[in-house]
Amino acid sequence: MTSILAEIQSLRTELREYNYQYYVLDNASISDYEFDMKLKDLELLEKDNPEFFDANSPTQRVGGEITKKFNNVTHKNRMYSLDNSYSLEDLLDWEKKIQKMLGTDAIEYTCELKFDGASINLTFEKGILVSAVTRGDGFVGDDVTANIKTIKSIPLVLEDAFLSDFEIRGEIILPLERFRKMNEERVAAGEEAYRNPRNTASGSLKLQDSGEVSKRQLDCLLYHVVDANNTYKTHFETLKVARSKAFKVPQEITLCKSIAAVYEYIQVWAAKRHDLPYETDGIVVKVNDLHQQDELGFTSKAPRWAIAYKFKAEQVSTVLHKITYQVGRTGAITPVANLEPVQLAGTTVKRASLHNADQIAKLDIRENDTVFVEKGGEIIPKIVGVDLDKRPEKSVPTIYSESCPDCYTDLVRTEGDAKHYCPNTYGCPTQITGRIQHFISRKAMNIDGLGSESIELLFKERLITNYADLYDLRMEEIIPLERMAEKSAKNMIAGIEASKQIPFEKVLFALGIRFVGETVAKKLAKHYKSIFNLMIASTDDLIEVDEIGERIAESVVEFSNDLGNIEMVNRLKIYGLQLEIVEDENSNVSELLAGKTLVVSGVFEIMSRNDLKKSIESHGGKVGSSISKKTSYVVAGKNMGPSKLEKAEKLEIPIISEEEYIAMVGA
Ligand code: AMP
Ligand code: ZN
Repeated sequence: MTSILAEIQSLRTELREYNYQYYVLDNASISDYEFDMKLKDLELLEKDNPEFFDANSPTQRVGGEITKKFNNVTHKNRMYSLDNSYSLEDLLDWEKKIQKMLGTDAIEYTCELKFDGASINLTFEKGILVSAVTRGDGFVGDDVTANIKTIKSIPLVLEDAFLSDFEIRGEIILPLERFRKMNEERVAAGEEAYRNPRNTASGSLKLQDSGEVSKRQLDCLLYHVVDANNTYKTHFETLKVARSKAFKVPQEITLCKSIAAVYEYIQVWAAKRHDLPYETDGIVVKVNDLHQQDELGFTSKAPRWAIAYKFKAEQVSTVLHKITYQVGRTGAITPVANLEPVQLAGTTVKRASLHNADQIAKLDIRENDTVFVEKGGEIIPKIVGVDLDKRPEKSVPTIYSESCPDCYTDLVRTEGDAKHYCPNTYGCPTQITGRIQHFISRKAMNIDGLGSESIELLFKERLITNYADLYDLRMEEIIPLERMAEKSAKNMIAGIEASKQIPFEKVLFALGIRFVGETVAKKLAKHYKSIFNLMIASTDDLIEVDEIGERIAESVVEFSNDLGNIEMVNRLKIYGLQLEIVEDENSNVSELLAGKTLVVSGVFEIMSRNDLKKSIESHGGKVGSSISKKTSYVVAGKNMGPSKLEKAEKLEIPIISEEEYIAMVGA
């Protein structure tokens, strides 16, 4: 073996171990910086020695592979469903049945959380992940291996033999925190929020671009090993060993000697489940002894040795006082149920979304009805039904609003769209202020000194009716406004002025074109280079751009054809906003620093401070102004301020030199 290959392999082994520590055990053993440096070393070695390429290398985890069609695969071992139970009585009935079949009362159980996601079967051969297949109908599933490989807690290669050939099953989930973030971004792009984490997770598995899947940061929690040899004696031991070797088996799994103990576990988690970082819809109880499992076998649908206990979705009933309507910045109308306040799953609920007209009609929801409100998979409580016994006598069916709650324009609903829209895009106050508020927001123009309330005030006073008007504001107009001190007026003007330096891609996002979120804006900016090129592009043209679909393309064209928009963009040009990409050799070299924030401090020798900042951004990183817990690295030059140094050390933020930075990004 050449020494280069040995070095590559040793780095791969080392990095796999760190991944395991970090993603499975949740216990980082080296700093992100050290990890990144090693990964970088490996990348370079692999690049220089392409003959040693390995699809399972830790460098191959960001995805990028495109799957046009997911192949059907027949499961070697059928993937069963689970029987359900809803009460202690159900559990005791189950116990009686299996005791009788086994001819013994001595049965030990494991209790696990029932994760709410999409099930997956991973096949390992000789220690290598060879396939990942969805459950499908239990007999045949879809091969989603390329997408699954982007999930970092799943090992691609086992360094330490667990079993020679085996299958391991688990649930693909989207952690709640990620789900919330994703929805925030979608809403900012004027898109409808995803309803719940489970559907989003299973939908993600079927994305064609594994690079997109990688960004979703799915996770995989494992709960079952298929091993024909019963190498380990019990289910519990099998999972324990699996965790100690490589796999993310959640630690909540517990051994119970009796159904009474099982029921206690259920009570505990029924109360605590809302504290978990992901969703659970119940508990799974399994017979622990693998021989007993074999003896019990399966029914035509489910194992006899396991049973799910379903948590009741927490539900309360309360009076619906009034149905009101909200209009968003894109004009979409959302009906809202205003409820008599009621306690549900630890929070007071006063309002619930009614989604759309169809939903109201389907459930025949009326004002003054007593309704059932549930907090299930969704984060926003929903109305699941009406208590008809309590319906008042003079009740009348709900007639869905025909006009905008804000500007009274007749609503429209296009074929195939569940939502009604207010078509008065440029005259509807909420849409106008909503668009300006989006324009100034942090991820868009990031205008300091100007908040949502000031926008409402400025609009009320007729000083602005669109975002271009911001750039016409004068001090003497602002100061007389209610609660406006001279200093705040100055800050406002300065903030607006400073926003003229915001790069084109952010300006494009700020324009608030429907379906053009941050990522899409970046793609379009990079491709078209200027707003003027973009605005003359046809739908066909746009669809040619990587990852731009018909829906986005049509929305861009609609925006570009509107005379009001054309005029506004021309004004922005005159004010001096960045409406084209500033081409410099640094622009967008890589995404190496994506998601990282670097703070620059001191005097530098190789590059100027400004170039250093530009370089960080060109590698996808953010330049932070002060050191905080969120800082990933401090790049320190000569004479770094002592207080900064102290703060970085206290927060244990890695401090790197200019040379180390350069080595890191490989410039
Ligand atoms: P159901 O879809 O209601 O029939 O429930 C069966 C499904 O529960 C399985 O296919 C798994 O995807 C899922 N599940 C979640 N957590 C577990 C667990 N700890 N053990 C077994 N199955 C689980
Ligand atoms: Zn309106």
